Amino acid sequence: MKERNINTKIEELSYDELNDQELQLVNLAREATQASYAPYSNFHVGAALLLDNGVFIKGANQENAAFAGICGERSAIYNAGANYPGVPIKMLAVTAHTRGDFVEEPCAPCGVCRQAILEFEKNAPHPIAIYLVGRERIYRVSSIAALLPLCFDSF
Ligand SMILES: [Zn+2]
Repeated sequence: MKERNINTKIEELSYDELNDQELQLVNLAREATQASYAPYSNFHVGAALLLDNGVFIKGANQENAAFAGICGERSAIYNAGANYPGVPIKMLAVTAHTRGDFVEEPCAPCGVCRQAILEFEKNAPHPIAIYLVGRERIYRVSSIAALLPLCFDSF
């Protein structure tokens, strides 16, 4: 038997360790939670991304009674795909607001969103830096692939 280990490098940052662009991205993700429609979960997710052309795009989860809504992260990346096709995503941040405050733990994308973001990364010339944003601290990974080891890949 062989054993294989998967290592994921996660940088933990405080808000004052972010550069101006990162802070702008994180603040947009926090702001995006206000556009969340989450009457069923009361978990208001906000996401923001920065494209290589300098455009920022926000996303927020949108629920419905059939529980067939969409997450904040996919709301943002599909908006990017629809409005700026082919423009690579440089960085993406996600956070959530619930029970009157932002989540304490850095907010991580679900598996479906990880797969969807990975598809954008695979079609781009560089990885997408991901920021998981909590109330006091942020986790930064240099690529969505770091959050989806042994990913499904059809090509
Ligand atoms: Zn998701």
